[in-house]
Amino acid sequence: MIDFSKRYRSHHDSTALLKEAFTRKPGPGNYIQGLLAGEAVKPRTIYVHIPYCVKNCSFCNLNRTLITEELQDYHRIIVEQIKKIARYRYIQSKGFESIYLGGGTPTTLAAEQLREVLEAIYTYLPIDPQAEISVESSLSELSEERLAVLQELGVNRLSIGVQTFVDRARNIMGRRGSGEWAAEKLQEVIALGFSNTNIDLIYNYPEQTMAELSNDLELINRIDLAGLSFYSLILHRGSRLDQEIADGLRPRLAGIDREKAIFREIFQQLRAGGYGLLELTKLVKPGRDQYKYIQIKNRTGDCLALGLGAGGRLGNYLYYNGMQKGLLLQPEPALSPMGREISEEYNIIDRINGELQFGRLDFDQIAVATGFDLKAAVPEWLVELAAMGLSKKSETELVLTDEGVFWGNNIGRELTLRLLDIFKKKKGVEGK
Ligand code: SF4
Repeated sequence: MIDFSKRYRSHHDSTALLKEAFTRKPGPGNYIQGLLAGEAVKPRTIYVHIPYCVKNCSFCNLNRTLITEELQDYHRIIVEQIKKIARYRYIQSKGFESIYLGGGTPTTLAAEQLREVLEAIYTYLPIDPQAEISVESSLSELSEERLAVLQELGVNRLSIGVQTFVDRARNIMGRRGSGEWAAEKLQEVIALGFSNTNIDLIYNYPEQTMAELSNDLELINRIDLAGLSFYSLILHRGSRLDQEIADGLRPRLAGIDREKAIFREIFQQLRAGGYGLLELTKLVKPGRDQYKYIQIKNRTGDCLALGLGAGGRLGNYLYYNGMQKGLLLQPEPALSPMGREISEEYNIIDRINGELQFGRLDFDQIAVATGFDLKAAVPEWLVELAAMGLSKKSETELVLTDEGVFWGNNIGRELTLRLLDIFKKKKGVEGK
């Protein structure tokens, strides 16, 4: 049954298991060349990675580094990569429904560099007229100039790493500026017309009090945000905060009961403020943020990854761009060779897992999308989930309760293990 000894907090805790099974290195037949010569079918997004930040936050382990002189030319590398990949039929055969600039901090690029990247995307790649154009940023980098360029070039979604408005906690996390400044700046940005503005919120940081939490939640309810992603603080090994706690300079994080109490409070206060669940770690105001990027990714659509350190997937090719410019700009094919070909079994489990990120699994929809009868595959497990209060009783779908959302990634991990077992037995192999 589900392992409750530790709370898994990320979707990657399940996908990591998947990567160990049902993938293989593309053989000499070269899957990539064949793919790029064909036509695209699945929904698709573009992801551009800008692996630079002005200051490293104490908790962060994302793929980023402090800004260096390299940043002067970085946008040109991305533009070159766009031009190279744009010549393939597969890339041109279908419109992209989402563009996502992530990092690091994409707005470490200057306004004119952002312009060059976005213009190159519009010029060389097929973009749907209704596409969601999303940019991550810190508040400090949202200068007038950058905001003007983002607006002019159709950016219609902002994802801003606020993390907290509490000064004590901002200090612990290494965030710049006070909470009061952050709240004011956020409102200025929204008032400019960025109505689909989202923030990240971190909870369960060292010695977080309920009063501090309420301060964050009241401000969130007062500011006209479209949505927020909320994460329980993960102490990544090697991060500055992890070291500070290990050295006794900061108190340890609270245990699971406290974490759950904070989680419940977030749900309660933000539901009262009009938010509803989009993903296990994402609340939105109805109709305000579709978050197409994650909808495409969770439903195993294509993700054209551009830039150093970006990971993507085209067809059944799962790849990582690595951190060497040479790999991005190699002549043929214009796609990183650091990748694995994934099997149909991988696709099925990945789709089920991705769907579970939305807090519900419709058995018929899963069967139509994957040809796999999930309900028939794990009937007793589904009954057990409901009996434990982790899902609602239903014959047609799995709907997580609030308790189930809290343990959502544990449930996803357990389901992944069960499905891996089923598929391995079916294939008569012990993974590859
Ligand atoms: S949290 Fe965001 S701004 Fe802070 S170091 Fe990580 S990527 Fe950079």
